Amino acid sequence: MKVVVVGGVAGGMSFAARARRLSEDAKIVVLERDAYVSFANCGLPYYLGGEIAERESLLLNTAQSLAASLALDVRTGHEVISIDPLGRTVRVRERASGREYTEGYDTLVLATGAEPVVPPIPGVDLPGVRVLRTVPDVDALQAILAGGPRHAVIVGSGFIGLEVAEALHHRGLAVTLVELADQVLPALDPEMARAVELDLRAHQIDVRLATSATSVRPVPGGGLVVELSDGRSVPADLVLLAVGVRPQTALAAGAGLALGVRGALLVDEYLRTSVSSIYGVGDAIQVVDAVTGAPALVPLAGPANRQGRAAANHLFGRPGAATPVLGTAIVRVFETVAATTGHGEKVLETAGIAHHVVHVHPGDHAGYYPGAHPIHLKLMFAPDGRILGAQATGSTGVDKRIDVIATALRAGLSVQGLADLELAYAPPFGSAKDPVNMAGSVAENVLAGDLNLWRGTDLAGRDPESVLLDVRSPAEFNTGHLPGALNIPHTHLRARLDEVPASASVWVYCASGFRSYLALRVLRQRGWPDVRSLSGGLLTLQRELADCELAQSGDLLAARR
Ligand code: FAD
Repeated sequence: MKVVVVGGVAGGMSFAARARRLSEDAKIVVLERDAYVSFANCGLPYYLGGEIAERESLLLNTAQSLAASLALDVRTGHEVISIDPLGRTVRVRERASGREYTEGYDTLVLATGAEPVVPPIPGVDLPGVRVLRTVPDVDALQAILAGGPRHAVIVGSGFIGLEVAEALHHRGLAVTLVELADQVLPALDPEMARAVELDLRAHQIDVRLATSATSVRPVPGGGLVVELSDGRSVPADLVLLAVGVRPQTALAAGAGLALGVRGALLVDEYLRTSVSSIYGVGDAIQVVDAVTGAPALVPLAGPANRQGRAAANHLFGRPGAATPVLGTAIVRVFETVAATTGHGEKVLETAGIAHHVVHVHPGDHAGYYPGAHPIHLKLMFAPDGRILGAQATGSTGVDKRIDVIATALRAGLSVQGLADLELAYAPPFGSAKDPVNMAGSVAENVLAGDLNLWRGTDLAGRDPESVLLDVRSPAEFNTGHLPGALNIPHTHLRARLDEVPASASVWVYCASGFRSYLALRVLRQRGWPDVRSLSGGLLTLQRELADCELAQSGDLLAARR
């Protein structure tokens, strides 16, 4: 059998390597139009920032090393320019010489990836305006950095934009980050992304939200100016466009293969395209969203690698199918780590999927053991207990908790299952009740009707007859509280129940949502019919109210400190 693979990075090379391990006899040709195969795209920002010192570290394999270890016929600088699905051939152009030739195949694998979206604004073709996708892209950026630039503008605050913002800050540039949405890291819900925004600002990154770049123009004498939608402009010696990617499927379209969402390559559960002798893997394909079941695009390295392996498994008669994709992702921005799996509230609301949300703020390990840091964990779940997603920010331990929940989601566990997970524990690593257990337990309480929650965003619609009860200590209360709140520390509540108007609706809050839950249980069992606890306490409310009118009130501002 002869297999031709188009694209020699994550998906394509994962396919080729697995195919060889399953078949010593197959002839496997990998055609890659760039000069590099199997390079570490995900490492590019860290090389730019200097954390990865050697360029060679990014180049995981060469055509020679792949020929030696896997007997692959890897041809770099060879671009596939057309496909003849009926004749089972591809037309190839050798880029250096311009020579064209036809290559036959029994099976073709399209792993052509995605390309950065370039917004249609004047000036994006100027030499100082770049994208970051490939090794030549990072080389071009390094060349600009060698000229001693002082200002950079990054357009887009997704994963790549944020990683490059940090990298350029490390390289001594003043960085402006321009984001069309009213929050950074739009993959997360706004209150979760707030920690990232605060860390960016703490490192003097000039964050411009709800703003877009409208043009880039050269300045006489050198440098650029980026004009913004708010009428202001920012000087730049370097502009990075990081507004997302789109599937690279012109080749497939030219061959008449069926395309789906935003031109992505349509594949079946075995990763076969509309022509069964052609597979598709990686950023180029449309996947199934594991939570909603809807078609989706998830341009991430993990799915690309797994799809490459699954397609090879299927081709060589092994069990292999494309698993629906969760979109599990993580980013580090200075001292903050932010991660997500499944869907957040924003997406669930847009999709009209019924859900509950809980926020918890436990330590990454036992509080009595030195060095514990809080994890801000948000869990989304369906009324039947099915996990729908989770997001977390913090420093250490965020990755572990999101990965555990991603595993639970994939395994179909419910929130009750999360509460019951048995996870590794000793004081330096976690707690006997891990943050994941804790989120599961709180969710379980919600579903059992033992815990009714309110959110910061509900404050504006609160019935004025209801009682706002702050159950923190007087010292905490005096540092700032919600307007009109009554302060009864939860430890005094049983003795001071007569101060809480009988049968009033009571909105309880504390710092993190734990003491307010204890107070809620007291009040509920003593006869108050409607008692609610602030989800995630003031720690969450302070992040949620960034765009709430009440946030401007004097008392609330005090509470936010
Ligand atoms: P690619 O890796 O893009 O490979 C496609 C290849 O096909 C390219 O080399 C291209 O030249 C070649 N090609 C296209 N058309 C042709 C043609 N006609 N003929 C021949 N060759 C062709 N993902 C994560 O999960 N975590 C991360 O931390 C992360 N960080 C990233 C950081 C950066 C800067 C970038 C750019 C991406 C990052 N990603 C990350 C995304 C991840 O790299 C991609 O999801 C993954 O590489 C997709 O693999 P792929 O094989 O589908 O496409």
